Amino acid sequence: MSRVALVTGGTRGIGAAISKALKAAGYTVAANYAGNDEAARSFTEATGIPTWKWDVSDYEASKAGIAAIEADLGPVDIVVANAGITRDAPFHKMTPGQWKEVVDTNLNGVFNTVHPVWAGMRERRFGRVVVISSINGQKGQFGQVNYAATKAGDLGIVKSLAQEGARNGITANAICPGYIATEMVMAMPEKARESIAAQIPTGRLGEPEEIARCVTFLVAEDSAFINGSTITANGGQFFV
Ligand code: NDP
Repeated sequence: MSRVALVTGGTRGIGAAISKALKAAGYTVAANYAGNDEAARSFTEATGIPTWKWDVSDYEASKAGIAAIEADLGPVDIVVANAGITRDAPFHKMTPGQWKEVVDTNLNGVFNTVHPVWAGMRERRFGRVVVISSINGQKGQFGQVNYAATKAGDLGIVKSLAQEGARNGITANAICPGYIATEMVMAMPEKARESIAAQIPTGRLGEPEEIARCVTFLVAEDSAFINGSTITANGGQFFV
């Protein structure tokens, strides 16, 4: 029987590419999303991947959603914490609400996604945790104090989980994408996209599939020795 993989925010953008790549690699995939039912419906129609709706910032909702997936598909062995949001503003204009919303989703959301599956992974002595962080968690970004803080925090989470899970066959790793051509980025004015691309040595934005490729690599059975690492996939824009 194939292992079950949960992808949060798995119906659109990078998450959708991850869901599809994991399915193509032979996993049984469950995709979570927050509220865009229309996008989730067309995603399932196109891919055959079932979806579950809950808000990752809500621990009880995450626990219930994961329990429903496990009842339908079996134990979740692979978790990709991908759901994330931005609420940008320069710090002097950033509201406590913008700070909190981003922390609740991008940082607490990772806890809420991994914690409910952790005990089962330990018992079964197998688990793969992948967190989608960001280049801006590595280097900081004007207007993204909230977002950069959460994405840097995500790296602390995986480095610690790696140490706690290792003896039970669990790995935890992060991916830091640079600018990826998702709907959000493609909706920017062409001039803005061109100026972003000009800062990337590769000369173009990344594709969601290029991030998905990192995920399938990290979750493989024979990636067991890769633990606590960060893969940067940013076209050469920034080196740690
Ligand atoms: P999108 O906005 O394209 O997709 C976001 C997905 O996450 C959707 O499925 C959305 O559901 C879901 N989602 C958002 N909030 C929640 C929530 N609270 N609970 C559950 N699901 C939620 O995002 P991207 O594909 O651009 O980004 C994916 C990840 O990659 C994020 O963590 C982002 O920070 C990171 N990243 C993205 C980069 C980029 O250039 N795009 C660069 C670096 C990192 P719904 O459809 O219902 O809204």
